[in-house]
Amino acid sequence: MLNIIIFGAPGSGKGTQSEKLIEHYKLFHISTGDVLRDHIRRGTDLGMTARAFMDQGQLIPDELMIDILASVLDDHHEEAQNGVIFDGFPRTIAQAEALETMLAERGTAVHHVVGLEVPDEELVDRLVKRGLISGRSDDNEETIKKRIEVYHNLTAPLKEFYQERGLYRFIQGTGTIDGIFDEIKKALD
Ligand code: ATP
Ligand code: MG
Repeated sequence: MLNIIIFGAPGSGKGTQSEKLIEHYKLFHISTGDVLRDHIRRGTDLGMTARAFMDQGQLIPDELMIDILASVLDDHHEEAQNGVIFDGFPRTIAQAEALETMLAERGTAVHHVVGLEVPDEELVDRLVKRGLISGRSDDNEETIKKRIEVYHNLTAPLKEFYQERGLYRFIQGTGTIDGIFDEIKKALD
């Protein structure tokens, strides 16, 4: 079993590299952003709550997010047998601690944290461009800047959290998609 966290700022390429990882290692993909956007599309109560936070560039409260993740894990127990790629979770220390407990209860653990590092200027650039085609309501310049600020304040401290556990794998997140993927494979094998 191989459980990987793909870690990095908004626009660092988590979704893109996740697709390649799933294919190569036959993992089950959990993107919390996609889970939330699916609720928004279906107009669920959770979707309505999530939308208000997402449109402000803010995180969904930890307790809610942790419950969502636990139910996704339980609903996809079968597909997750080879392992999981966690994309967009954890985003806070509280979420990381909850994930440790959740996986331990299920007899497993996080094996690698792939940290995609990209300079802020390039992140803004990429996300503004993506906004022109994604139609995502949070891909506009003001919200992008807020998301990057939230990333530095709440999410970036996880780098040290995972370095202390010997799990953090630094990956330079600039260059070609395939070149970055080669670096990831080297770090994992
Ligand atoms: P990218 O996918 O390009 O790296 P991103 O990381 O900002 O960009 P998503 O992961 O899709 O995008 O997340 C979009 C929004 O969903 C976040 O800004 C946040 O509001 C909410 N969200 C997603 N995952 C979490 C989480 N683990 N905790 C709290 N909020 C979350
Ligand atoms: Mg994404």
